[in-house]
Amino acid sequence: MPELPEVETIRRDLTSRIVGRTIVEAWVSPDAPKLVQDEPADAFCRHLAGRRIAELDRRGKYLLVRLDGGLTWIVHLRMTGGLIHTRGGCADERFLRARFRLDDGAELCYMDLRKLGTMWLTDDESRVVGKLGPEPLGEAFGPRELHRLLAKRSAPVKAVLLDQGAIAGIGNIYADEALFEAGIRPSKPAKALSRPAAGRLHQAVRKVLMEALADRGSSFRDYVDAEGEQGMHQLRVKVFRRTGEPCYVCGTAIKRIRVGGRSTHYCPKCQR
Ligand SMILES: [Zn+2]
Repeated sequence: MPELPEVETIRRDLTSRIVGRTIVEAWVSPDAPKLVQDEPADAFCRHLAGRRIAELDRRGKYLLVRLDGGLTWIVHLRMTGGLIHTRGGCADERFLRARFRLDDGAELCYMDLRKLGTMWLTDDESRVVGKLGPEPLGEAFGPRELHRLLAKRSAPVKAVLLDQGAIAGIGNIYADEALFEAGIRPSKPAKALSRPAAGRLHQAVRKVLMEALADRGSSFRDYVDAEGEQGMHQLRVKVFRRTGEPCYVCGTAIKRIRVGGRSTHYCPKCQR
């Protein structure tokens, strides 16, 4: 569920709280055996301990915690993961899957109801994030790049927006919202989009992501920021999970279909 705006909100919050701190102790719950990738959890904890946090970065939906010694701790929250900075212990121990104690007495609690989240400790980030497409809020992603990318694909335009190798960071919420904003039907083949339509979609993707960032993300179910607080953008979505409710522009009932195996919401009148 956490997409670019949610992970970026966590990154920004954590930057002022943990950059410069040293991880003094790491613990991974034995009931989360799939959390740590590529090495046993005890080795991962041993390698993290004593490392100073130099910088926080993000690629797509991946949080990159750069450590001294050239190592990067990479976190992907998947469906229900959350990384919460606290001084008073973790709020709900039932879903606590890992804990990282810092040298100022604070802790990072990794909570994950469904246990789908993953972490890596690596000296080669590209092994994990090297195949991601461009950042939609970055300079390398322009209307021309988007049109070129869509022109090569016969899949539905929504499926291409969700393809992390095409564009990084967009998930189900913001794909539906961006397509509504651009007036484009999610099931339309990507290569059928004209250059002006691709330009509208490019603008819509950026607008929707920026607005969600300003709202500190969307909390439909589990997402909370680094302080355990919900985002606000779920209150401002135009189509996502509004099936049967009137379109804010034309009053037509919002429809739900499946596109590329994902539940998809759109206005049959505004989106062509
Ligand atoms: Zn409409």
